[in-house]
Amino acid sequence: MGGHADPPQHMPAAVRQRVGRAVPANEMVFASIARMSTYEERMSMEEPIPRYSRHTLLRVFGEEGQDKVEKSRVFVAGLGALGSLISILLARAGVGFLRIADLDAPELHNIHRQILYDEADTMSGLSKARVAEKRLKAAASNVEIEAVDVRIGPDNIDHLVRDVDVVVDALDNISARYHMNDAVLARRIPYVFGGAIETMGNVMTVIPGGTPCLRCLWPNPHEVSDHPRAATVGVLSATATAVASIQVAETLKLLLGRQEDLIRGLLTLDLWRTRFRVVPVEPNPACVCRTKADSAKMRSGGNPDNE
Ligand SMILES: [Zn+2]
Repeated sequence: MGGHADPPQHMPAAVRQRVGRAVPANEMVFASIARMSTYEERMSMEEPIPRYSRHTLLRVFGEEGQDKVEKSRVFVAGLGALGSLISILLARAGVGFLRIADLDAPELHNIHRQILYDEADTMSGLSKARVAEKRLKAAASNVEIEAVDVRIGPDNIDHLVRDVDVVVDALDNISARYHMNDAVLARRIPYVFGGAIETMGNVMTVIPGGTPCLRCLWPNPHEVSDHPRAATVGVLSATATAVASIQVAETLKLLLGRQEDLIRGLLTLDLWRTRFRVVPVEPNPACVCRTKADSAKMRSGGNPDNE
């Protein structure tokens, strides 16, 4: 086994000779120990590099931004392709509390884009929420993770969003999205919508009482229910992760209070044709987000449950 042992006799002579010669193993080991000790010496002399320094160094972030991130609470709804990347990036960014929810289990035909799960997970019988919880805790033990095995719908949505600062939509069906839209409007919680299909994607950030909402974008649920699905037309893995990445950036802007930097309208992208465009979305005066009795109160912003 050890590199310094004589080469095994069953090897062809030419290989034996080469292996024999190629094992100045002691020298290699000593050289690597020498490198390590130099590195360790250097590290012991220097201040440890703060964990989030590559975020806090950002001009738009700073220490103050990181403090806000660490004090914040986010709900990631759904743990498919979008939820995989969104939850792991937010955990690694040090978000204080992350709630994640999904009832499905990882499947082999989805792991090309659902990057939190590996082959063994598709046979473990564990839900995505349980596997994700394990992966997020391994990546960021300082983040509080609440994993919920539940199919997100009208019965549980209000409970899931009740105490968070931002909701990130990583759902895979439009009816749950409408319920989500209505729940966050009622509680005045900012909401980052995202979707990916084929090579195309959408992202829109909803500020209750400020921007148009999902129902302003798609007033007729029946039209949207005809939208194609990954199971029939496929989805490019890179498109899904691009959409998720943009949702993470939007979430961080919201947590940092940088609303002026948010996407204004609907971002549409086609990763195959490398096209990105922001389409203006007009508020629908008849929409529930405009006509609610407490819309004046909504305009003042903030989520009283969090303060
Ligand atoms: Zn609306």
